[in-house]
This record gives sequence, structure tokens and C-alpha cells, in this order.
Amino acid sequence: MASTSVTGSPSTPLPAPLPVEGVRLLRTRLLEWYDATGQDFPWRTARNPYFALVAAVCAQQTQMSRVLPTFERWIAAFPTLEAAAAASNAEALRTWARAGYPRRALAIRDAARLCLEQHGGTLPADTTALLALPGVGPFTAAIVRCFGFGLDAVAIDTNVVRLLGRLLGGDLQPARESSPRDIERWAHELLPPGEAARWNPALMDYGGLVCAARPRCDVCVVVDACVARPRFAAGEQAVPVRAQGAFANSDREWRGRLLHELRTAARPIRVGALLEAVGASTADTPRVRALLKALCVEGMAWSRGGWCGLGER
Ligand code: SF4
Repeated sequence: MASTSVTGSPSTPLPAPLPVEGVRLLRTRLLEWYDATGQDFPWRTARNPYFALVAAVCAQQTQMSRVLPTFERWIAAFPTLEAAAAASNAEALRTWARAGYPRRALAIRDAARLCLEQHGGTLPADTTALLALPGVGPFTAAIVRCFGFGLDAVAIDTNVVRLLGRLLGGDLQPARESSPRDIERWAHELLPPGEAARWNPALMDYGGLVCAARPRCDVCVVVDACVARPRFAAGEQAVPVRAQGAFANSDREWRGRLLHELRTAARPIRVGALLEAVGASTADTPRVRALLKALCVEGMAWSRGGWCGLGER
């Protein structure tokens, strides 16, 4: 493989564009790798903006291995934007099941309703209009544009940050060390026109499978162009980004338990029985009651006269 330098110093005040030859080399090798190795998810090839929206929302703060079952369950229950828009809170939350961060279920439903009300029953392709939908940030908007509409859009997730920050910036832990502006600039410069629906997943998969938290430089197809490689070869290591706070006994865990019991209950249940079912001790009770109240405010549960249930009453 030819050895080609592809970047200058990341601290240069006015950064020069990436060399054309280097860009071409990275595109070719990473796309070849993706064509041979990439993961074949239904939302990547369907050119269905609604599928792309659901997949992108499912993927927020979630490992890819957990996205597919949630996506499949959601699409089976609500195959179209219209079906999602018609879902009640309880139906959306039951379908979401234990996928975590359940507000996302209501966000997809609310986005679908807004599309029906304001965009003639379809998802908009325009970035500004997409960003105005509930639950849609720059990553989700880019996914809808590239997978759903086949448009050129740069989708940057944590895997892409890690790959580009190492490959072009020489940082070992780009999530902490690289400048988001540099990452965005590199992502735009590298994007092959007309190929976003292949290129974005190529970077995401490569960052997830090869340039992972522990990089597999020995099998890397762009190793000779990588600015971070000499540092890894010299024995330096990427200091892990601190994981999310402990889950045990967190508000998130209690909310999850409450929603699980409410989801699986066939009919309204007594608040006292709910507290018992989730295992709240006398000391836990005020906190768990407050969390139930918060779920009610968010439309995920209701509580009245000592009874409660999933969704809205
Ligand atoms: S050489 Fe190692 S650090 Fe560089 S892009 Fe490849 S896997 Fe990542």
C-alpha cells in the first residue's frame, strides 16, 4: 500500500484543506472495506425517510446491537408515519419496551404527528425543518437526509469522531481531545459527493469495528495514513472516556422499573401495589413517588385517586 500523508497539524490557525490524493485514498479504501464488510441494516438501503428517522432515534445513546430489535419491533407495530402518529402514549411505550430512554418513543410519535400536520404527511428533506421535529438533532437529521432521501449529508456519531480524530488529528481519545470543529471540517472534506448513504455508514462501522475503543491497527486499511498510529505503536493508550454514572439505584433505574411494571400490567394498578412491585422500601418511597409523578408530567404514566397506569388516561 502506498504511504500517503493526509493531514497537516490540527493546531494550524487557518487549516489547509486535506490533500486531494489523501482524500481519494481514504475514500477508496474505506468504501472498499465497507462494501466487503459493512453491516446491512434495513434502514440503510430502503430509501425510506421514516425508517431512517426511527433507526436514528433508536441509535441515540444506544449500542448498535440493541438498535435492530427496537427498530424491527417499532416498524412492525407502526409501519408508516401515519401509524406512528396514531399511536397513544401507552402503545408507543409498550412497543418501545425496555430499549431505554423511553422519551424517544414519544418523540418519534410526536415527530410523525408534526409531519402529518405541517409537511403533508411526509418527512421533510430540509435540515432546518428536520431539526424542528421532536427528538431530531444534527445526527438524526443527517441520517434522514442521507439514508431516507439519498442526499449528501454528514452524519457524525461517536464512532466517526473517534476515527477521524485519530486518523487525521493524531488524538488517541478524540471524544475528549479533538476539536468538534476540526472533526466537522474533516467529515465535510472527506464526504464523496453522491455517496453519503455508503460513506456515512462506512465511517460509523469502521469506527465501531476497527478503530474501536481499542483500535485494531494491525488490520486497519488506512494504517499508513493514520496520524495516531505511531503513538499507538509506541505503546501509548487511549484513556477510556468515563462511562455513564452507576445505573444501580439511579433515578434511571427506578424509572425503568416503574415503566416496566406499568407496561406489563393489563389494567390500572394501585400506586401502593406498584411501589411494592418495583421493590421500593419505606425509605425509597418518597423518591419513587416523586419519580412516578415526573413520569405523569411527561405523559408516560397517569395517577389518580390512588390508581395509576401507563401513558395518559
Ligand atoms: S491505524 Fe489504528 S488508530 Fe489509526 S485509523 Fe487505523 S485503527 Fe484507528
